[in-house]
Amino acid sequence: MQGRQAGTALLLLLAVVVAALPAPSLGWGVDGHLIICEIAQGRLSDAAAKAVNDLLPSGAGGNLSSLCSWADRVRFRYQWSAPLHFIDVPDNVCNYSYDRDCKDEEGVKGRCVAGAINNYTSQLLTYGSSSLSPSSKSSGQYNLTEALLFLSHFMGDIHQPLHCGFASDRGGNTIDVHWYRRKTVLHHVWDVNIIQTAEKDYYDEGAGEFVDALNKNITGAWSDKVQEWEECAKSQTACPDKYGSESIAAACNSAYKGVTEDSTLSDAYFGSRLPVVNLRLAQGGVRLAATLNRIFG
Ligand SMILES: [Zn+2]
Repeated sequence: MQGRQAGTALLLLLAVVVAALPAPSLGWGVDGHLIICEIAQGRLSDAAAKAVNDLLPSGAGGNLSSLCSWADRVRFRYQWSAPLHFIDVPDNVCNYSYDRDCKDEEGVKGRCVAGAINNYTSQLLTYGSSSLSPSSKSSGQYNLTEALLFLSHFMGDIHQPLHCGFASDRGGNTIDVHWYRRKTVLHHVWDVNIIQTAEKDYYDEGAGEFVDALNKNITGAWSDKVQEWEECAKSQTACPDKYGSESIAAACNSAYKGVTEDSTLSDAYFGSRLPVVNLRLAQGGVRLAATLNRIFG
């Protein structure tokens, strides 16, 4: 009896310990994805907006941003999807190569965020082509609603610099730091903390004003660069490799730079890295829209 009680107590303790462990971080936080999808929604062509509205579940009201974190919410139910949120590059290598790096831990090729973007883009290209299926939400072999939600999420993830980070620290997930006085990991600083601090300091705690500010830059200060952001080489529909290469460069030049285990990151880091986060959120939104416009155009 005693042994059984001790066993139960141990199990309970284990459950508490497991619950207290930080969940592995798999993407921009909810606000980062929301910001990217809000920017994209406002840039959709009529044809793309119509297709998106058709593919989204009816409760979404045609609004992509409410479902851009769906892929994170299903990562336990769809365990196969976990490696699709990121790319690991070899330690201290500041470039990315699809052939070398786009694989999961078992070495299965294409199972990384860039491969996932290519895959869901090709699935969505079957939209409207099926004469077999009575519903446009499925093209027979694919669930196009899920394909749209995955693509919209992964286009965000690939723009988070530490989603194309070093393998041994899992994109900064094993680097303990303090964000001001709070204990966290470097990856989480880039997923969540920089965005939250910006919202608190500049945007009245809200993502909406953050989106407005980025949109103002997209049509203003950055307007001469937007076309280049949108373009893919060789008339590709999606070009995630370019975004992954930019991310590992930003990870080396900005996210990892000067950070060691137990660093305290505060005003100086926030002030110098926020412009990088702003740029990546804007590029993510612009490129998600451009990709959806190409798919449904
Ligand atoms: Zn993710």
